[in-house]
Amino acid sequence: MMRITDIISKKRDKIKLNKKEIEFFITEFCNNKIPDYQASALLMAIYINNMDEDEIIYLTDAMINSGEKIDLKNVPGLKIDKHSTGGVGDKITLISAPIVAACNIVVSKMSGKGLGFTGGTIDKLHSIPGFKTTFTINEHICNLNKVGLSISGQSENLVLADKKLYALRDVTSTVDSIPLIASSIMSKKIASGADKIVLDVKVGKGGLVGDLDTAIMLSNIMIKIGESNGCETVAVLTNMYNPLGLNIGNSLEVIEALEVLNGKGPSDVKEIAFYLSATMIHIAKKINFDDCMEIVKETVNSKKALNKMVEFIKNQNGDCNIVSDYNIFKKPLYIHNIKARSFGYIRSVNTDKLGKLSVILGSGRETKDDIIDYSAGIVLKKQVGNKIIEGEVLLELHTDKLYDLEYLEKEVHSIFEINESKPEVCKNILLYIDKNGIREV
Ligand code: URA
Repeated sequence: MMRITDIISKKRDKIKLNKKEIEFFITEFCNNKIPDYQASALLMAIYINNMDEDEIIYLTDAMINSGEKIDLKNVPGLKIDKHSTGGVGDKITLISAPIVAACNIVVSKMSGKGLGFTGGTIDKLHSIPGFKTTFTINEHICNLNKVGLSISGQSENLVLADKKLYALRDVTSTVDSIPLIASSIMSKKIASGADKIVLDVKVGKGGLVGDLDTAIMLSNIMIKIGESNGCETVAVLTNMYNPLGLNIGNSLEVIEALEVLNGKGPSDVKEIAFYLSATMIHIAKKINFDDCMEIVKETVNSKKALNKMVEFIKNQNGDCNIVSDYNIFKKPLYIHNIKARSFGYIRSVNTDKLGKLSVILGSGRETKDDIIDYSAGIVLKKQVGNKIIEGEVLLELHTDKLYDLEYLEKEVHSIFEINESKPEVCKNILLYIDKNGIREV
């Protein structure tokens, strides 16, 4: 008879687990036959001793089979999903999804809420008054057939194992582990039923993966898992050393996304959103990448993407007047301007600390039951590499909470490094990886 204590000891002693053992762990854990303390011990053993490719694939398969799977066969045409590993100011989905859907490619996305300092797409969308993301699978399918784009919250039963495991990982310091991240993300993607997946793997302190080598390893294993499930998967590695764009926080990020769909917005957001959109079109339609990029630009310039966004918001019960009137969004009670104390170039930003500051202002959850203030967040007036003079506004803090301004100023000044030497600015798009290998962009 199989026993969980033997499985824990094996992993502790760096012995490879077999398919049956991994399936036993997931099935029994989901049936509440394995208590949290034993599951936590195994998670920590995996965290420390890692898993090889076979083990990660067995784990992902077992997780996929732990809940319901979405069958999109009643939606004609090819279905594509895009997933980001998450980062500070990451609003790319809100731009890429309507662009790609406006090109008549079905975009189907089940999305999670944000936890920690990187926000979730669902929370950003909920900042739009009336916006609804709770749908049954049939309703999600109806949305896809009607609009070609649906973003809904994960149903309770999709990858049940991940719900239970993620909650444990969050409180046992076992989140940032390649096998655990890869199986968590890919089990949900595959169970969600799309035919192709584009992954935006964020690299840098503002995301889950701090360095390029780890991001490459994570991308390669996620591609392997996708392909082994018959789902073409590619990864684009993008810069998360610095915050993405100027706006951090839910409604602020929706506004920035709308700006890009209006042909405006910060150049880093535009470059990454356009590249990912072109990648989605490229793998869906198998046409030349440069032509895909032209299609993306035309779709934005002609306002087809913005019109698709309006259709999408309306269909999910949101107030689409926000597209032309940002005043409809809830406003914060306080906007504090924080000014630079010295002259020079912005050399670096402690991006994760900036993300955490935004959460403290109210834009995210510190525990899973916290209530989000959709108007809270940060508006940067300068980005890394920009020049600033003493007394010039560096950023705005938006919040409903009453804070000591001196404390906030101290926090902000500990996050930014400003001095007289001009920094090298990192590329926005670092690498493209698919089953054939790695390509510099
Ligand atoms: N996102 C997920 O869905 N799972 C992880 O483990 C990390 C990021």
